[in-house]
Amino acid sequence: MSYRDTLDFLLYDWLHAERLNERQRFADHSRETFDAVLDTCERIAREKYAPANRTVDVEEPHFDGEKVILPRATHEAHAAFVESGMMAAAQDYDIGGMQLPYTVQAAANSFFAMASVSIGSNMLTSGNANLLMVHGTEMQKQVFALNEFSGRWAGTMCLSEPQAGSSLSDVATRAVPDGEGFENDPLGPRYRLKGNKMWISAGDHELTENIVHIVLAKIPDAEGKLIPGVKGISLFIVPKKMVDTEGRLTGERNDVALAGLNHKLGWRGTTNTLLNFGEGKYPVDGKAGAVGYLVGKPGQGLACMFHMMNEARIGVGTAAVMLGMAGYHASLDYAKNRPQGRPVGPAGKDATRPQVRIIEHADVRRMLLAQKAYCEGALALQLYCARLVDEQKTGRPEAADDARLLLEVLTPIAKSWPSEWCLEANSLAIQIHGGYGYTRDFPVEQYWRDNRLNMIHEGTHGIQAADLLGRKVLMEGGKGLQLLGARVQETIARAAARPELAGFADALGQAFGRVTAAIQAAWSTGNPAEALVNAVPYMQAFGHMVLAWMWLDVADKAIEKDNGATSVSTTGRLGAATYFFRYELPKIGAWLNVVESREPVCADLPEDAF
Ligand SMILES: Cc1cc2nc3c(=O)[nH]c(=O)nc-3n(C[C@H](O)[C@H](O)[C@H](O)COP(=O)(O)OP(=O)(O)OC[C@H]3O[C@@H](n4cnc5c(N)ncnc54)[C@H](O)[C@@H]3O)c2cc1C
Repeated sequence: MSYRDTLDFLLYDWLHAERLNERQRFADHSRETFDAVLDTCERIAREKYAPANRTVDVEEPHFDGEKVILPRATHEAHAAFVESGMMAAAQDYDIGGMQLPYTVQAAANSFFAMASVSIGSNMLTSGNANLLMVHGTEMQKQVFALNEFSGRWAGTMCLSEPQAGSSLSDVATRAVPDGEGFENDPLGPRYRLKGNKMWISAGDHELTENIVHIVLAKIPDAEGKLIPGVKGISLFIVPKKMVDTEGRLTGERNDVALAGLNHKLGWRGTTNTLLNFGEGKYPVDGKAGAVGYLVGKPGQGLACMFHMMNEARIGVGTAAVMLGMAGYHASLDYAKNRPQGRPVGPAGKDATRPQVRIIEHADVRRMLLAQKAYCEGALALQLYCARLVDEQKTGRPEAADDARLLLEVLTPIAKSWPSEWCLEANSLAIQIHGGYGYTRDFPVEQYWRDNRLNMIHEGTHGIQAADLLGRKVLMEGGKGLQLLGARVQETIARAAARPELAGFADALGQAFGRVTAAIQAAWSTGNPAEALVNAVPYMQAFGHMVLAWMWLDVADKAIEKDNGATSVSTTGRLGAATYFFRYELPKIGAWLNVVESREPVCADLPEDAF
């Protein structure tokens, strides 16, 4: 079954995305317009992205002392993406957008992630511009956001520093008012920034005329001290090249210097940079200090940033899914063509008989089915979350608020589950290729390397897990979890009525009960250090429960759609659901045992005993 068939089923048969056009905002859209967008993106991904995927891996970005050089193919792919209008797809018509639902935008972007995940830093640019549309002044929107949506300029997110990664409260970049009248600059209150930003994706390149950095920095107090903690963090627009209020380049460089490129395991199509702000390499008006324009209020920087975290995290999760999916399709193809070995049993003992294709071996089928279960199940979750984003933005007030809370609970899973399990899918894809999978002659090793990033950025696995068990399942009196429980129960009720699914419905009910009860057990002493010591096993169990729910719901819909017949696609979906319930869901017992008992060994082992 092709990826497009899977996507269409989930988007239309399962999520009924076409019904979104009943809403005012999407009234001009229809299944036809959605399909046209999907067709265009699928074509660009096939023609411009996929053929360049290996090129961008082997021709790493390099710095010639003046410019960062990227392969020509990256420029062509970027131009084709901009031309398609996808950068502004979800924006209003009057600023050149298509008013496309986020659900369809996420689905359309999946083609690019599958074809060559690292070519586009587009997610950063649209995320940066989206943030400005919410928190920026009219002038900041006009000058910066709109030029990003048009593709004329690109955007970055400058949060991390060498000494401040997970712990953003320790950011040390300073922003001081830029002289008298600093508040009156039409582009926003004007500051001078000094500091170092580490790991900045797409921090320097020649793909666009300018780069708009969004930078977290602290404004010192009256005594010149930085306010400790996140409350002291503010947000600034720092363009690479200075611009005027009409969005024209003034010809002057801003004081942002590339200190070096990071050489990465994967995701090499996107530059990754260490940027020095304000070191005096490019003085502005004769003075050292990068010019930055305040966005929102001082001290609100992280809050502004969090506004767009859900979409960014769904984006990261979707990238992980699509890398997994790429490996699944590559290894499926390989398994259908590689002859090796003979069947188990007497027939296999006759060496004069031709070898079978490896897809005929049960163990290879196990690895294929695991990949299908991980990747197609996780794709369902990403699209479900994307649909919640649309609900949050365009639903009636109560439904919108429910969607917000559900997203709070599901986002750590949408980000982290694919990062772990679709990476495992990539590992299985390598395994199916045997020794060939370990070479650069086949694409699967690159998928694994590219995917390994996703557990690290946008909040590491450990940080996401602490957020889930320490905050998300408890917030607003546990209402998000209750809403999730109600939806899980709806699925269970429907599936319980089908003989093929009744056993799975029962297993999901028990899993949900146990995942919920484990929260009380973990927190029973009220000591966060004990409760959170096994936060990652908790997140693994929670994630597996959510994925089991996805599979049960998808399987139920597949059977309903077939209306008595059984299509090959439904057979495939039931196979993957069965795999998930029989091989994966039982794992939650082991994970929750240590959560419930607050197993202390990891925390308590003396350091010198390691
Ligand atoms: C390729 C790439 C692209 C990136 N792009 C960007 C970007 O565009 N912009 C940007 O701002 N940043 C970016 N990052 C940075 C990324 O977000 C950070 O690497 C990440 O937040 C982790 O920070 P760190 O590397 O300093 O690791 P650390 O924070 O030092 O973490 C190291 C390990 O310790 C664990 N750990 C840390 N603190 C705790 C804790 N309190 N409890 C439990 N465990 C903990 C972590 O989970 C991790 O396993 C990128 C990183 C990479 C590798």
